[in-house]
Amino acid sequence: MTNWLLRMLIVLMCCAASAVMAAQQIDSVRMSKSPDATRIVFDLQAPLQHTVNKLGNPDRIVVDLDGAALNFDFSKLDLRNSPIREIRTGQHAADKVRVVLDLTSAQRPKTSMLAPSEGSGWRLVIDLLADLDPEDPPNQVATISKSPLGETLADFRPMVVALDPGHGGQDPGAIGPSGTREKDIVLQIGKRLADHINRQPGMRAVLVRTGDYYVPLADRRRIAADKYNADVFLSIHADAFTDSRAHGASVFALSHHGSTSARAGYLARIANDSDKVAGVYKEERENNSLLNVIADLTTSGSLTHSLVLGRMILEEMGQVTKLHGDRRKVEQAGFAVLKEPSMVSLLVETGFISNRTEEKNLRSSAHQEKMAKAIVGGLHKYFEMHPKPETYYALLRSRGGVRPATHKINSGETISSIARRYDISENSLREHNKLRGDKIRAGQVLRIPPG
Ligand SMILES: [Zn+2]
Repeated sequence: MTNWLLRMLIVLMCCAASAVMAAQQIDSVRMSKSPDATRIVFDLQAPLQHTVNKLGNPDRIVVDLDGAALNFDFSKLDLRNSPIREIRTGQHAADKVRVVLDLTSAQRPKTSMLAPSEGSGWRLVIDLLADLDPEDPPNQVATISKSPLGETLADFRPMVVALDPGHGGQDPGAIGPSGTREKDIVLQIGKRLADHINRQPGMRAVLVRTGDYYVPLADRRRIAADKYNADVFLSIHADAFTDSRAHGASVFALSHHGSTSARAGYLARIANDSDKVAGVYKEERENNSLLNVIADLTTSGSLTHSLVLGRMILEEMGQVTKLHGDRRKVEQAGFAVLKEPSMVSLLVETGFISNRTEEKNLRSSAHQEKMAKAIVGGLHKYFEMHPKPETYYALLRSRGGVRPATHKINSGETISSIARRYDISENSLREHNKLRGDKIRAGQVLRIPPG
């Protein structure tokens, strides 16, 4: 349904409703905060007509609600760490309410009327988005000024890695047998990983979530892509499985058409339910099918690269922790958080919090450090192989390249996956190793043609 049609429908429904009903009473208003947005939710019995105006000097947002009476004490809302200084309300007529949000800084309001779903009724959602300054410094800064090659790193664009610790706020994620919450563990790992990335010349990390609050899945992708222009997006998780024996780390990429295993599909369903658990709902739902089509057309390139990077991260993680099913294969399923075509996007399951041994490991700072270093190792190898123009890695490549002379075959690898990994043709790999056909075996060492 188009936005226009939806609005018309709401207006019609409102007119019909107000003709027969007295003003509806609003007695629940909720608020949630993240560094990128503040959300205010009015719980309604029926849709209502409203106008939202942004005013300056001083900055404030004025919300007028028609056909409504307020029965809510706004002093109950915690305004700390939000751009709202004060909330004032007034009943302008028996059926007209005005809510004024006095702001500490200019905010862009975005409103949506959400239809009942999953146990919630009608809701008017007002998001206050910071009027972003394009010069806004990212939340992590690389401080290394000299590369080993003597150039000033400032001359090069860093590869930007967006780290997305899963869950947060009202959504604890999976909970381990000793009560460990996934949202806490993945935030700790994410912060350690950011530190390690920022110590690497040519890489810079940004965190999509920096504290214990929830960020809707679609916003996570948008913050990474639009605010930080990230090259790579890594969502970090430590999920549970019904069978407590399940163990091992794994890496997932997006699939538009089904899942590569039952477990991949199961984990994607759980991950995609995150918005519901946190009580936020996808807006612009009516546009989703179209977006999916566009995504289908444009993700093909980044999906291929996601699989290559995923494999490299798995290889490195396999050195420091058990892999799920001992498989170095990147699984695929329909993870909503990975549907951003402009970034190489992966979801890293650092282990099973439902498994007692792994729960203990995941809590240990030594283990978290090992995992973080392994993931950085995978990123480094990937950037070496697939440098983007005008980056430090492109410089490294131009200085004689970083392609190794040999490659020891891991189980599950194929001629084509190895060729892709080193950015060479399958034929040149075959010729260089006098291979006939596609038969190779794990442990065999291949010579890699020089770049
Ligand atoms: Zn999770």
